[in-house]
Amino acid sequence: MAPLPMNRDPVLPLTIIEAHAFLDLALDLAHHAQQAGDVPVGAIVVANGKVIGKGYNQKECRQQPTAHAEIMAIQDAANHLGSWRLGGCILVSTLEPCPMCAGAVLQARLDAVVYGALDRRWGALGTRLDLIAVGFNHIPRVHYVPYSPCEQILTHFFAQRRLQKKGEARIN
Ligand SMILES: [Zn+2]
Repeated sequence: MAPLPMNRDPVLPLTIIEAHAFLDLALDLAHHAQQAGDVPVGAIVVANGKVIGKGYNQKECRQQPTAHAEIMAIQDAANHLGSWRLGGCILVSTLEPCPMCAGAVLQARLDAVVYGALDRRWGALGTRLDLIAVGFNHIPRVHYVPYSPCEQILTHFFAQRRLQKKGEARIN
């Protein structure tokens, strides 16, 4: 069977155990987003096995369209390094990056992206769009590592939100 477009690189930059451990850290951040009423997505930037950037979705709480988890983590890592160049670093996100965040991955020259759930609505690293296949002059390695808690946190969030909306409709 042909590999998924997002898993065209044969070797994962992390072991599966490492990928899951970093996805767990990103999930902790996703919970912060959820507590603030934002869609629960979390991301970290890893360099030499260490976390140098953290972010979670803050679009609602900041009323900023660009405050996605991946952008926040990339900005945090750039601040940490004092450089926009994040070569040698890996972005680990609970969700497949959107076109904006995938664009930021290219701009930051990140080595690799690992994500734990597909985004069928906005995914730009293989699902709705494959930004890597365009052939820009930087090509990061991309790996989708299916990790059910990354999908579950979103399913749960949207189910809760639907229930809430139903309740509100009844009151009104
Ligand atoms: Zn995004």
